[in-house]
Amino acid sequence: MTHDDLVFEALAYRRNVGTSLSDLRKYLQFRELTSHTAEDDLEALRRFEDAGKLVEVSEKWFLTPDGYKQAKGRALKPEWQWEDAWTLLALLYSSREKDLCKLEHIIAAADHINHAIPMLEELHGALNRLASGRLIRTRRGGFVVTERALELLSKVNASVRRRVLDQLDGLRRIMDCPCCGVNLKSVRWRISLDEDMLVQAEEAYREWSAETLKRH
Ligand SMILES: [Zn+2]
Repeated sequence: MTHDDLVFEALAYRRNVGTSLSDLRKYLQFRELTSHTAEDDLEALRRFEDAGKLVEVSEKWFLTPDGYKQAKGRALKPEWQWEDAWTLLALLYSSREKDLCKLEHIIAAADHINHAIPMLEELHGALNRLASGRLIRTRRGGFVVTERALELLSKVNASVRRRVLDQLDGLRRIMDCPCCGVNLKSVRWRISLDEDMLVQAEEAYREWSAETLKRH
């Protein structure tokens, strides 16, 4: 087995969660017969990237749909993260006013909920996990929430006070619930997101909130 084969095996094992350089090294160190450096690993990753099998997002690598098709064998199970509930609540809020939520609408609602702007890796992870769990769908350059997501929120609203942070906490917990939560089996990383897209969306949001302030 070549170094590249072993690297792909690691990427396949971590296909639902993404792989950092140190994740990769941890996987390889007890399996390789001759030891390689992190530099060798990086070169291998770049080769897969050039071949269209892999994409880098904030120091983690994710298989593209093309790369994912080739991934076989056992895989780590993905888990819901805190930012998934944050992003979903942002989408649920902004979809009350809009049929289609664009990135800047998600950012605006996320800022309103938690007084922070999500980072690229948070948003990329959250959107892809939410889409894989069928809580959101992509449509014409934006996102829509599904019936399943609306049901989750109404269950949350039935059990907590309708304050933003209570809803956020309730949503995070219900996602993991064995009876009414969402079992996340795999994550396909079909939604691509890069720093430029995020910067543009953030600029659009800042311009538009400055306009709103002026009008008040
Ligand atoms: Zn339940």
